[in-house]
Amino acid sequence: MSVYLVTGGAGFIGSKLVDDLLARKDRVIVLDALTYSGRRENLSQCSDNENFEFVKGSICDLETVPTIFSNYRPAAVINVAAETHVDRSIDRPSDFIDTNIKGTDTLLHTSLKYWQSLERSEKESFRYLQISTDEVYGSIEQDSATESAPYRPNSPYAASKAAADHLVRSYNKTYGLPTLTTHGSNTYGPRQFPEKLIPLIILRALSGQSLPVYGDGRQIREWIHVDDHVTAILTVLEKGLIGESYNIGSGIVLENIELVKTLCRILDKSRTKNSESDLAGKIQFVQDRPGHDHRYFMDGAKAQKKLGWCSKIELYEGLVDTIDWYLNNTEWWEPITNNQYNLDRLGAPDS
Ligand code: NAD
Repeated sequence: MSVYLVTGGAGFIGSKLVDDLLARKDRVIVLDALTYSGRRENLSQCSDNENFEFVKGSICDLETVPTIFSNYRPAAVINVAAETHVDRSIDRPSDFIDTNIKGTDTLLHTSLKYWQSLERSEKESFRYLQISTDEVYGSIEQDSATESAPYRPNSPYAASKAAADHLVRSYNKTYGLPTLTTHGSNTYGPRQFPEKLIPLIILRALSGQSLPVYGDGRQIREWIHVDDHVTAILTVLEKGLIGESYNIGSGIVLENIELVKTLCRILDKSRTKNSESDLAGKIQFVQDRPGHDHRYFMDGAKAQKKLGWCSKIELYEGLVDTIDWYLNNTEWWEPITNNQYNLDRLGAPDS
């Protein structure tokens, strides 16, 4: 049994990662600040598991982070915690600088001191894995971005993730800290906070609201189901080469408008068995996001060739599964849409 420190484990991707680690009988320590998108309910299924510990706190906290390392002695750190929503980063970039850059720095610094104190065999097996994004490469107008493509972040979110990636790289090159980095593409599935495109469209459709799409809806994104994203993270952790980064994509690439229309078709079928429904008629094009990237397109060959990983879940199947989850888990999202969060103020974010 290994001990994993998962930051941001109460969020969308983090909570699925925790589930999969616990299913393997590993011990998991979650450090999560429970911001608006981090929810204790996402981990309620783990509460009785004796291998699970939850610590509420920030990755920026210079006291909490070292204490966790000395109390739990992790074999690996997976830094999932982040401020993640591009629109919020446009409104308040400083939150992104704090968590995504300074928080990563605190984790790296603490990991380094801890790693240097380990004895040889533990030192050799220790890993620090940074969960990054395809957005660091910016808009890829032609071809596709390999892991050696230049970073051209265009939003404060992408810039903060890019800065964190550079810090991770520097800790490996300068101090030898055994780091790994993954660049995931747009991820969807159960328990995603309803500010992101897919749950936003599902929940607005269910409440009879218009379905906002940024600009002309022709932005191109690669979509991966959270189950596939998490198997990729675990594969990189197990087989990835120290100091390397890996693009994690599904190869499923389409325009936002096409994605929204597909969601409408599935929702039409699932909601209105007896009457006519045409949710696509509710699509409304709204003013585009400033600096909106047109096309994300990664080359995912390295993870396939070097690690033998590839995604398994087809988009249609994954969307049906996701819609079913939101339909069957109203108690999860109703408190968000009723009290805490007003879907009306949202445009049509895509990540
Ligand atoms: P999320 O917003 O659902 O979860 C983020 C989690 O981090 C929340 O539980 C939140 O409480 C926690 N957190 C925020 N600030 C913190 C802090 N200072 N200290 C401790 N915890 C803090 O995000 P997500 O969609 O699950 O994304 C997780 C990671 O994956 C992020 O690093 C993101 O950049 C990356 N990523 C996401 C996608 C995607 O499409 N969702 C794609 C590629 C990469």
